[in-house]
Amino acid sequence: KTPSSTRQESNVDKLLGGLLVPGFDERSCHSRYSSAFYSKNVTRLPSAYLIKRLRKQEALQRRCGPGTEAYRAAAALLRYRHRVGLNDTTGGTCKYIVLVPYRGLGNRMLAVASAFLYAMLTDRVLLLDRATSLSDLFCEPFPGTTWLLPRRFPIKNLQNLTGEVKESYRNLVQNNSAASVSGLGYVFVDLDHTCTYHDKLFYCDDERQFLHRAPWLVMRTDGYFVPALFLNPAHQEELDRMFPRKDAVFYLLAHYLFHPTNKVWGLVTRFYNSYMRNSDEKLGIQVRVFDGDTPFKHILDQILACTSQERLLPEVVTQEPMLPPPSTTGARSKAVLMTGLSSWYYENIRWKYLQSATATGEVVSVYQPSHEEHEFSGKTTHDMKALAEMCLLGMTDAIVTSGWSTFGYVGHGLGGLTPWVMFKPENLTTPDPPCRRARSMEPCMHAPPFYDCRAGHGADTGKLVPHVRHCEDMSWGLELV
Ligand code: GDP
Repeated sequence: KTPSSTRQESNVDKLLGGLLVPGFDERSCHSRYSSAFYSKNVTRLPSAYLIKRLRKQEALQRRCGPGTEAYRAAAALLRYRHRVGLNDTTGGTCKYIVLVPYRGLGNRMLAVASAFLYAMLTDRVLLLDRATSLSDLFCEPFPGTTWLLPRRFPIKNLQNLTGEVKESYRNLVQNNSAASVSGLGYVFVDLDHTCTYHDKLFYCDDERQFLHRAPWLVMRTDGYFVPALFLNPAHQEELDRMFPRKDAVFYLLAHYLFHPTNKVWGLVTRFYNSYMRNSDEKLGIQVRVFDGDTPFKHILDQILACTSQERLLPEVVTQEPMLPPPSTTGARSKAVLMTGLSSWYYENIRWKYLQSATATGEVVSVYQPSHEEHEFSGKTTHDMKALAEMCLLGMTDAIVTSGWSTFGYVGHGLGGLTPWVMFKPENLTTPDPPCRRARSMEPCMHAPPFYDCRAGHGADTGKLVPHVRHCEDMSWGLELV
Protein backbone atom coordinates (compact mmCIF):
# COMPACT_ATOMS: atom_id res chain seq x y z
CA LYS A 1 0.00 0.00 0.00
CA THR A 2 1.20 3.49 -0.71
CA PRO A 3 1.43 6.14 1.98
CA SER A 4 -1.23 8.25 0.34
CA SER A 5 -3.79 5.49 0.20
CA THR A 6 -3.25 4.33 3.75
CA ARG A 7 -2.86 7.63 5.53
CA GLN A 8 -6.15 8.95 6.77
CA GLU A 9 -6.83 12.63 6.30
CA SER A 10 -6.85 13.16 10.06
CA ASN A 11 -3.39 11.62 10.43
CA VAL A 12 -1.79 13.89 7.91
CA ASP A 13 -0.25 17.04 9.25
CA LYS A 14 -1.07 19.48 6.48
CA LEU A 15 0.95 22.22 8.15
CA LEU A 16 4.11 20.11 8.26
CA GLY A 17 4.78 20.44 11.96
CA GLY A 18 4.02 24.16 12.08
CA LEU A 19 6.21 25.07 9.10
CA LEU A 20 3.15 26.44 7.29
CA VAL A 21 0.49 28.78 8.60
CA PRO A 22 -3.21 28.02 8.15
CA GLY A 23 -5.55 30.56 6.61
CA PHE A 24 -4.47 30.76 2.97
CA ASP A 25 -7.22 30.30 0.38
CA GLU A 26 -6.93 26.59 -0.45
CA ARG A 27 -8.59 26.80 -3.87
CA SER A 28 -6.10 29.24 -5.31
CA CYS A 29 -3.18 26.98 -4.39
CA HIS A 30 -4.10 23.32 -3.95
CA SER A 31 -0.56 22.14 -3.36
CA ARG A 32 0.03 24.21 -0.23
CA TYR A 33 -2.05 22.11 2.12
CA SER A 34 -2.15 18.87 0.17
CA SER A 35 1.50 18.12 -0.54
CA ALA A 36 1.66 16.23 2.77
CA PHE A 37 -0.66 13.58 1.31
CA TYR A 38 1.87 12.76 -1.39
CA SER A 39 4.94 12.37 0.74
CA LYS A 40 6.02 9.86 3.26
CA ASN A 41 6.06 11.08 6.83
CA VAL A 42 7.74 14.44 7.23
CA THR A 43 11.45 13.64 7.07
CA ARG A 44 12.53 16.39 9.45
CA LEU A 45 10.32 18.54 11.61
CA PRO A 46 11.05 22.24 11.97
CA SER A 47 12.45 23.37 15.32
CA ALA A 48 10.26 25.60 17.49
CA TYR A 49 12.77 28.38 16.96
CA LEU A 50 12.66 28.07 13.16
CA ILE A 51 8.87 28.30 13.33
CA LYS A 52 9.14 31.44 15.44
CA ARG A 53 11.60 33.01 13.00
CA LEU A 54 9.38 32.17 10.02
CA ARG A 55 6.42 33.89 11.68
CA LYS A 56 8.62 36.90 12.39
CA GLN A 57 9.74 37.02 8.77
CA GLU A 58 6.14 36.81 7.56
CA ALA A 59 5.26 39.79 9.74
CA LEU A 60 8.23 41.70 8.31
CA GLN A 61 7.26 40.85 4.73
CA ARG A 62 3.74 42.13 5.42
CA ARG A 63 4.85 45.28 7.21
CA CYS A 64 7.41 46.30 4.60
CA GLY A 65 6.28 44.55 1.42
CA PRO A 66 5.02 46.09 -1.82
CA GLY A 67 2.01 48.36 -1.33
CA THR A 68 3.00 49.48 2.14
CA GLU A 69 4.01 52.97 3.15
CA ALA A 70 7.40 51.59 4.19
CA TYR A 71 7.96 50.13 0.72
CA ARG A 72 6.99 53.38 -0.99
CA ALA A 73 9.42 55.33 1.16
CA ALA A 74 12.26 52.88 0.56
CA ALA A 75 11.62 52.81 -3.20
CA ALA A 76 11.51 56.61 -3.32
CA LEU A 77 14.80 56.71 -1.50
CA LEU A 78 16.30 54.41 -4.08
CA ARG A 79 14.87 56.50 -6.89
CA TYR A 80 16.43 59.70 -5.68
CA ARG A 81 19.57 58.07 -4.42
CA HIS A 82 19.76 59.99 -1.21
CA ARG A 83 18.71 59.27 2.27
CA VAL A 84 16.79 62.31 3.39
CA GLY A 85 13.58 61.27 5.01
CA LEU A 86 14.33 57.64 5.74
CA ASN A 87 13.63 57.71 9.39
CA ASP A 88 10.57 57.64 11.48
CA THR A 89 8.24 58.51 8.63
CA THR A 90 8.67 54.92 7.41
CA GLY A 91 7.43 53.56 10.70
CA GLY A 92 10.80 51.95 11.28
CA THR A 93 13.37 51.30 8.63
CA CYS A 94 12.74 48.38 6.35
CA LYS A 95 15.63 46.73 4.57
CA TYR A 96 15.32 44.65 1.43
CA ILE A 97 17.09 42.04 -0.59
CA VAL A 98 16.13 41.82 -4.22
CA LEU A 99 17.10 38.50 -5.72
CA VAL A 100 17.84 38.17 -9.40
CA PRO A 101 17.60 34.42 -10.03
CA TYR A 102 18.71 33.10 -13.40
CA ARG A 103 19.68 29.96 -15.34
CA GLY A 104 17.73 26.70 -15.11
CA LEU A 105 14.91 26.15 -12.67
CA GLY A 106 16.99 24.06 -10.27
CA ASN A 107 19.56 26.87 -10.05
CA ARG A 108 16.83 29.42 -9.48
CA MET A 109 15.13 27.45 -6.72
CA LEU A 110 18.41 26.95 -4.86
CA ALA A 111 19.11 30.67 -5.18
CA VAL A 112 15.69 31.60 -3.80
CA ALA A 113 16.04 29.26 -0.81
CA SER A 114 19.51 30.64 -0.03
CA ALA A 115 18.48 34.28 -0.36
CA PHE A 116 15.46 33.64 1.85
CA LEU A 117 17.64 32.25 4.63
CA TYR A 118 20.00 35.20 4.26
CA ALA A 119 17.01 37.55 4.45
CA MET A 120 15.88 35.92 7.70
CA LEU A 121 19.35 36.16 9.19
CA THR A 122 19.67 39.85 8.38
CA ASP A 123 16.06 40.98 8.89
CA ARG A 124 15.56 41.88 5.28
CA VAL A 125 12.46 41.58 3.15
CA LEU A 126 12.96 39.17 0.26
CA LEU A 127 11.66 40.27 -3.14
CA LEU A 128 12.11 38.40 -6.40
CA ASP A 129 12.87 39.90 -9.77
CA ARG A 130 10.03 38.99 -12.15
CA ALA A 131 12.13 38.43 -15.24
CA THR A 132 11.83 34.64 -15.02
CA SER A 133 8.71 32.48 -14.95
CA LEU A 134 8.71 31.98 -11.17
CA SER A 135 5.31 33.64 -10.72
CA ASP A 136 3.68 31.07 -13.05
CA LEU A 137 5.29 28.25 -11.15
CA PHE A 138 4.89 29.08 -7.48
CA CYS A 139 2.15 30.38 -5.21
CA GLU A 140 2.94 33.21 -2.83
CA PRO A 141 4.63 31.84 0.28
CA PHE A 142 3.94 34.73 2.67
CA PRO A 143 0.40 35.43 3.85
CA GLY A 144 -1.10 38.82 3.06
CA THR A 145 1.66 40.13 0.83
CA THR A 146 3.66 39.36 -2.32
CA TRP A 147 7.27 38.35 -2.78
CA LEU A 148 7.36 39.62 -6.36
CA LEU A 149 9.18 42.84 -7.02
CA PRO A 150 6.73 45.51 -8.27
CA ARG A 151 7.04 46.19 -11.99
CA ARG A 152 7.84 49.83 -11.42
CA PHE A 153 10.97 49.14 -9.44
CA PRO A 154 13.44 52.02 -9.84
CA ILE A 155 16.45 49.93 -10.94
CA LYS A 156 15.90 48.65 -14.47
CA ASN A 157 17.55 45.68 -16.18
CA LEU A 158 18.48 43.94 -13.00
CA GLN A 159 19.55 40.95 -15.08
CA ASN A 160 22.36 42.99 -16.61
CA LEU A 161 24.04 44.08 -13.38
CA THR A 162 27.56 42.72 -12.91
CA GLY A 163 30.25 42.88 -10.25
CA GLU A 164 31.77 45.73 -12.28
CA VAL A 165 29.19 48.34 -11.23
CA LYS A 166 30.24 50.94 -8.70
CA GLU A 167 27.57 49.74 -6.27
CA SER A 168 29.02 46.25 -6.15
CA TYR A 169 30.21 44.69 -2.94
CA ARG A 170 33.37 43.74 -4.81
CA ASN A 171 34.06 47.37 -5.52
CA LEU A 172 33.38 48.48 -1.94
CA VAL A 173 35.77 45.91 -0.52
CA GLN A 174 38.44 46.26 -3.18
CA ASN A 175 38.60 50.03 -2.85
CA ASN A 176 38.21 49.99 0.87
CA SER A 177 35.21 52.23 0.45
CA ALA A 178 32.79 50.56 2.84
CA ALA A 179 32.20 53.94 4.46
CA SER A 180 30.64 55.21 1.23
CA VAL A 181 27.81 52.72 1.44
CA SER A 182 25.60 55.38 2.99
CA GLY A 183 25.82 57.37 -0.22
CA LEU A 184 24.69 54.52 -2.44
CA GLY A 185 21.11 53.70 -3.29
CA TYR A 186 21.87 50.00 -3.12
CA VAL A 187 24.67 47.49 -2.85
CA PHE A 188 24.96 44.83 -5.52
CA VAL A 189 26.18 41.42 -4.43
CA ASP A 190 27.41 39.24 -7.26
CA LEU A 191 27.45 35.57 -6.29
CA ASP A 192 27.50 34.10 -9.78
CA HIS A 193 29.57 30.91 -9.92
CA THR A 194 32.27 32.91 -11.70
CA CYS A 195 32.44 35.63 -9.03
CA THR A 196 35.77 36.82 -7.64
CA TYR A 197 37.65 36.51 -4.36
CA HIS A 198 36.41 39.97 -3.34
CA ASP A 199 32.77 39.13 -4.16
CA LYS A 200 33.05 36.05 -2.00
CA LEU A 201 34.22 38.04 1.02
CA PHE A 202 30.48 38.73 1.29
CA TYR A 203 30.22 35.27 2.85
CA CYS A 204 32.32 36.49 5.78
CA ASP A 205 30.47 39.76 6.08
CA ASP A 206 29.01 40.64 9.40
CA GLU A 207 25.98 42.72 8.37
CA ARG A 208 26.46 44.91 11.38
CA GLN A 209 29.73 46.28 10.03
CA PHE A 210 28.38 48.23 7.09
CA LEU A 211 25.79 46.42 5.03
CA HIS A 212 23.13 47.27 7.57
CA ARG A 213 23.41 50.83 6.29
CA ALA A 214 22.31 49.70 2.85
CA PRO A 215 18.52 49.54 2.79
CA TRP A 216 18.63 47.76 -0.57
CA LEU A 217 20.77 44.78 -1.46
CA VAL A 218 20.48 43.43 -4.96
CA MET A 219 21.83 39.92 -5.25
CA ARG A 220 22.53 37.84 -8.31
CA THR A 221 23.22 34.18 -7.78
CA ASP A 222 22.62 30.91 -9.57
CA GLY A 223 23.19 28.49 -6.78
CA TYR A 224 22.94 27.26 -3.22
CA PHE A 225 25.09 29.30 -0.85
CA VAL A 226 23.67 28.14 2.47
CA PRO A 227 26.81 26.13 3.42
CA ALA A 228 28.81 29.38 3.30
CA LEU A 229 26.36 31.03 5.70
CA PHE A 230 27.11 28.24 8.17
CA LEU A 231 30.81 29.15 7.98
CA ASN A 232 30.23 32.77 8.93
CA PRO A 233 30.71 33.27 12.69
CA ALA A 234 28.19 36.13 12.61
CA HIS A 235 25.35 33.71 11.85
CA GLN A 236 26.45 30.63 13.71
CA GLU A 237 24.40 30.96 16.87
CA GLU A 238 21.22 31.84 15.05
CA LEU A 239 21.61 29.01 12.55
CA ASP A 240 22.28 26.51 15.33
CA ARG A 241 19.02 27.47 16.96
CA MET A 242 17.06 27.40 13.71
CA PHE A 243 18.51 24.13 12.48
CA PRO A 244 19.60 21.78 15.26
CA ARG A 245 19.96 19.18 12.47
CA LYS A 246 22.08 20.59 9.70
CA ASP A 247 21.18 18.13 6.96
CA ALA A 248 17.63 19.29 6.28
CA VAL A 249 17.98 23.02 5.74
CA PHE A 250 16.94 22.90 2.10
CA TYR A 251 14.22 20.35 2.80
CA LEU A 252 12.59 22.66 5.34
CA LEU A 253 13.11 25.91 3.42
CA ALA A 254 11.83 24.34 0.21
CA HIS A 255 8.70 22.97 1.83
CA TYR A 256 8.09 26.37 3.35
CA LEU A 257 8.68 28.38 0.16
CA PHE A 258 7.80 26.30 -2.87
CA HIS A 259 4.15 25.58 -3.46
CA PRO A 260 3.50 24.78 -7.12
CA THR A 261 0.62 26.63 -8.76
CA ASN A 262 -2.55 24.67 -9.56
CA LYS A 263 -1.49 24.07 -13.17
CA VAL A 264 1.78 22.48 -12.12
CA TRP A 265 0.18 20.60 -9.25
CA GLY A 266 -2.39 19.19 -11.67
CA LEU A 267 0.46 17.71 -13.73
CA VAL A 268 2.06 16.28 -10.61
CA THR A 269 -1.01 14.69 -9.09
CA ARG A 270 -2.40 13.29 -12.33
CA PHE A 271 0.91 11.68 -13.18
CA TYR A 272 1.32 10.36 -9.65
CA ASN A 273 -2.17 8.91 -9.53
CA SER A 274 -1.85 7.33 -12.98
CA TYR A 275 1.57 5.75 -12.72
CA MET A 276 3.00 5.79 -9.23
CA ARG A 277 0.37 5.59 -6.54
CA ASN A 278 -0.39 1.91 -6.63
CA SER A 279 3.13 0.55 -6.75
CA ASP A 280 4.76 -1.05 -3.73
CA GLU A 281 7.97 0.86 -4.26
CA LYS A 282 8.97 3.90 -6.23
CA LEU A 283 12.44 4.57 -7.59
CA GLY A 284 13.44 7.88 -9.16
CA ILE A 285 16.21 8.11 -11.75
CA GLN A 286 17.20 11.61 -12.81
CA VAL A 287 19.30 11.75 -15.94
CA ARG A 288 21.12 14.98 -16.67
CA VAL A 289 23.77 15.00 -19.36
CA PHE A 290 26.22 17.87 -19.61
CA ASP A 291 28.00 16.70 -22.77
CA GLY A 292 25.18 17.41 -25.21
CA ASP A 293 21.63 16.35 -25.89
CA THR A 294 22.37 13.25 -27.99
CA PRO A 295 22.09 9.84 -26.28
CA PHE A 296 25.28 8.38 -24.85
CA LYS A 297 25.85 4.68 -24.34
CA HIS A 298 28.30 5.28 -21.48
CA ILE A 299 25.56 7.05 -19.55
CA LEU A 300 23.04 4.25 -20.08
CA ASP A 301 25.74 1.84 -18.88
CA GLN A 302 26.31 4.04 -15.85
CA ILE A 303 22.62 4.04 -14.89
CA LEU A 304 22.40 0.26 -15.29
CA ALA A 305 25.64 -0.34 -13.38
CA CYS A 306 24.58 1.92 -10.54
CA THR A 307 21.07 0.52 -10.11
CA SER A 308 22.41 -3.03 -10.33
CA GLN A 309 25.35 -2.61 -7.92
CA GLU A 310 23.27 -0.76 -5.38
CA ARG A 311 20.43 -3.28 -5.77
CA LEU A 312 17.94 -0.60 -6.67
CA LEU A 313 16.62 -2.51 -9.68
CA PRO A 314 16.37 -6.29 -10.03
CA GLU A 315 18.37 -8.37 -12.47
CA VAL A 316 16.57 -9.95 -15.42
CA VAL A 317 16.56 -13.60 -16.47
CA THR A 318 16.93 -14.97 -19.97
CA GLN A 319 14.38 -17.78 -19.67
CA GLU A 320 10.70 -17.01 -19.60
CA PRO A 321 9.42 -18.15 -16.21
CA MET A 322 6.17 -20.08 -15.79
CA LEU A 323 3.71 -17.60 -14.37
CA PRO A 324 0.52 -18.26 -12.43
CA PRO A 325 -2.62 -16.44 -13.62
CA PRO A 326 -2.34 -12.66 -13.11
CA SER A 327 -4.88 -12.40 -10.33
CA THR A 328 -2.90 -14.74 -8.07
CA THR A 329 0.67 -13.59 -8.58
CA GLY A 330 0.84 -11.08 -5.72
CA ALA A 331 4.13 -9.94 -7.21
CA ARG A 332 5.69 -6.83 -5.81
CA SER A 333 5.52 -3.86 -8.10
CA LYS A 334 8.14 -1.25 -8.61
CA ALA A 335 7.46 2.01 -10.41
CA VAL A 336 10.52 3.66 -11.89
CA LEU A 337 10.14 7.35 -12.54
CA MET A 338 12.75 8.56 -14.98
CA THR A 339 13.34 12.18 -15.86
CA GLY A 340 15.55 13.61 -18.53
CA LEU A 341 15.64 15.77 -21.63
CA SER A 342 16.05 12.67 -23.81
CA SER A 343 13.74 9.65 -23.90
CA TRP A 344 16.45 7.27 -25.07
CA TYR A 345 17.62 6.13 -21.62
CA TYR A 346 14.03 5.61 -20.52
CA GLU A 347 13.17 3.61 -23.64
CA ASN A 348 16.13 1.31 -23.15
CA ILE A 349 15.42 0.62 -19.50
CA ARG A 350 11.72 0.18 -20.12
CA TRP A 351 12.49 -2.27 -22.93
CA LYS A 352 14.88 -4.19 -20.69
CA TYR A 353 12.04 -4.94 -18.26
CA LEU A 354 9.50 -5.63 -21.00
CA GLN A 355 11.80 -7.95 -22.85
CA SER A 356 12.75 -10.08 -19.87
CA ALA A 357 11.30 -11.16 -16.55
CA THR A 358 12.98 -10.14 -13.33
CA ALA A 359 14.94 -12.63 -11.27
CA THR A 360 12.99 -11.59 -8.17
CA GLY A 361 9.57 -11.86 -9.77
CA GLU A 362 9.02 -8.14 -9.20
CA VAL A 363 7.04 -6.24 -11.81
CA VAL A 364 9.05 -3.22 -12.94
CA SER A 365 7.19 -0.42 -14.73
CA VAL A 366 9.18 2.44 -16.17
CA TYR A 367 7.75 5.89 -16.86
CA GLN A 368 8.99 9.28 -17.98
CA PRO A 369 6.65 12.29 -17.94
CA SER A 370 8.34 14.33 -20.69
CA HIS A 371 11.33 14.52 -22.99
CA GLU A 372 11.90 18.12 -23.94
CA GLU A 373 15.07 17.29 -25.95
CA HIS A 374 16.67 20.68 -25.22
CA GLU A 375 16.76 23.12 -22.35
CA PHE A 376 14.49 26.14 -22.81
CA SER A 377 14.73 27.64 -19.34
CA GLY A 378 12.47 30.63 -18.79
CA LYS A 379 9.71 29.31 -21.11
CA THR A 380 6.69 28.80 -18.91
CA THR A 381 5.38 25.42 -20.07
CA HIS A 382 8.89 23.98 -20.20
CA ASP A 383 9.61 25.22 -16.68
CA MET A 384 6.27 23.85 -15.47
CA LYS A 385 7.18 20.39 -16.67
CA ALA A 386 10.57 20.70 -15.00
CA LEU A 387 9.00 21.68 -11.69
CA ALA A 388 6.39 18.92 -11.88
CA GLU A 389 9.14 16.38 -12.45
CA MET A 390 11.24 17.64 -9.55
CA CYS A 391 8.15 17.28 -7.34
CA LEU A 392 7.50 13.76 -8.63
CA LEU A 393 11.12 12.77 -7.99
CA GLY A 394 10.54 13.98 -4.44
CA MET A 395 7.64 11.54 -4.09
CA THR A 396 9.75 8.43 -4.66
CA ASP A 397 11.20 6.14 -1.97
CA ALA A 398 14.74 6.06 -3.33
CA ILE A 399 16.48 8.19 -5.91
CA VAL A 400 19.45 8.10 -8.25
CA THR A 401 20.60 11.53 -9.42
CA SER A 402 23.17 12.92 -11.82
CA GLY A 403 26.14 14.59 -10.17
CA TRP A 404 26.49 18.37 -10.66
CA SER A 405 22.81 18.78 -11.45
CA THR A 406 20.84 21.34 -9.46
CA PHE A 407 17.67 19.79 -10.95
CA GLY A 408 18.62 16.58 -9.15
CA TYR A 409 19.46 18.41 -5.92
CA VAL A 410 15.99 19.90 -5.82
CA GLY A 411 14.39 16.53 -6.62
CA HIS A 412 16.02 14.65 -3.77
CA GLY A 413 15.96 17.68 -1.48
CA LEU A 414 12.18 18.03 -1.80
CA GLY A 415 11.77 14.36 -1.00
CA GLY A 416 14.07 14.44 2.01
CA LEU A 417 15.96 11.65 0.25
CA THR A 418 19.65 10.93 0.47
CA PRO A 419 20.44 10.13 -3.16
CA TRP A 420 22.71 7.73 -4.93
CA VAL A 421 24.74 10.20 -6.97
CA MET A 422 26.08 9.20 -10.36
CA PHE A 423 29.50 10.75 -10.87
CA LYS A 424 29.85 13.12 -13.78
CA PRO A 425 31.54 11.18 -16.59
CA GLU A 426 34.95 12.32 -17.84
CA ASN A 427 36.13 11.66 -21.41
CA LEU A 428 32.80 10.07 -22.36
CA THR A 429 33.42 6.96 -20.28
CA THR A 430 31.37 5.33 -17.55
CA PRO A 431 32.90 6.24 -14.19
CA ASP A 432 33.97 3.43 -11.89
CA PRO A 433 32.31 3.23 -9.45
CA PRO A 434 29.28 4.57 -11.32
CA CYS A 435 27.64 6.09 -8.26
CA ARG A 436 27.80 6.41 -4.52
CA ARG A 437 25.30 7.01 -1.76
CA ALA A 438 25.57 10.65 -0.70
CA ARG A 439 26.07 11.60 2.93
CA SER A 440 23.25 14.04 3.06
CA MET A 441 20.05 15.17 1.39
CA GLU A 442 21.43 18.70 1.08
CA PRO A 443 22.33 20.36 -2.25
CA CYS A 444 25.97 20.99 -3.05
CA MET A 445 27.33 24.54 -3.20
CA HIS A 446 29.30 24.71 -6.44
CA ALA A 447 31.31 27.90 -6.02
CA PRO A 448 32.23 28.03 -2.34
CA PRO A 449 34.58 30.47 -0.64
CA PHE A 450 38.10 29.25 0.16
CA TYR A 451 38.52 31.59 3.07
CA ASP A 452 38.37 31.12 6.82
CA CYS A 453 36.37 34.09 8.14
CA ARG A 454 37.61 33.61 11.71
CA ALA A 455 41.29 33.26 10.91
CA GLY A 456 41.17 35.87 8.14
CA HIS A 457 43.09 33.84 5.56
CA GLY A 458 42.61 31.24 2.86
CA ALA A 459 41.67 27.74 4.00
CA ASP A 460 40.09 24.45 2.98
CA THR A 461 36.51 25.35 3.89
CA GLY A 462 35.45 21.69 3.81
CA LYS A 463 37.49 21.13 6.96
CA LEU A 464 36.53 24.01 9.22
CA VAL A 465 33.40 22.69 10.94
CA PRO A 466 32.04 19.15 11.21
CA HIS A 467 28.74 19.92 9.48
CA VAL A 468 30.19 21.51 6.31
CA ARG A 469 32.00 18.98 4.11
CA HIS A 470 33.03 18.55 0.50
CA CYS A 471 30.38 17.03 -1.76
CA GLU A 472 30.50 13.52 -3.26
CA ASP A 473 29.89 14.77 -6.78
CA MET A 474 32.15 17.83 -6.82
CA SER A 475 35.37 17.65 -4.84
CA TRP A 476 35.65 21.39 -4.17
CA GLY A 477 31.92 21.93 -3.51
CA LEU A 478 30.47 22.23 -0.01
CA GLU A 479 27.43 20.59 1.52
CA LEU A 480 25.82 20.48 4.93
CA VAL A 481 25.80 17.05 6.54
P1 GDP B 1 21.02 21.69 -13.95
O1 GDP B 1 21.43 22.39 -15.20
O2 GDP B 1 20.99 20.21 -14.10
O3 GDP B 1 21.83 22.13 -12.78
O4 GDP B 1 19.49 22.03 -13.61
P2 GDP B 1 18.62 23.31 -13.90
O5 GDP B 1 17.22 22.96 -13.48
O6 GDP B 1 19.18 24.53 -13.28
O7 GDP B 1 18.65 23.54 -15.47
C1 GDP B 1 18.34 22.56 -16.39
C2 GDP B 1 17.03 22.86 -17.08
O8 GDP B 1 16.93 21.98 -18.22
C3 GDP B 1 15.82 22.54 -16.23
O9 GDP B 1 15.41 23.58 -15.42
C4 GDP B 1 14.81 22.18 -17.28
O10 GDP B 1 14.33 23.34 -17.89
C5 GDP B 1 15.65 21.41 -18.28
N1 GDP B 1 15.75 20.01 -17.85
C6 GDP B 1 16.86 19.34 -17.49
N2 GDP B 1 16.55 18.07 -17.15
C7 GDP B 1 15.22 17.95 -17.29
C8 GDP B 1 14.30 16.89 -17.05
O11 GDP B 1 14.65 15.79 -16.63
N3 GDP B 1 12.98 17.15 -17.29
C9 GDP B 1 12.56 18.37 -17.71
N4 GDP B 1 11.25 18.55 -17.93
N5 GDP B 1 13.40 19.38 -17.95
C10 GDP B 1 14.71 19.19 -17.72
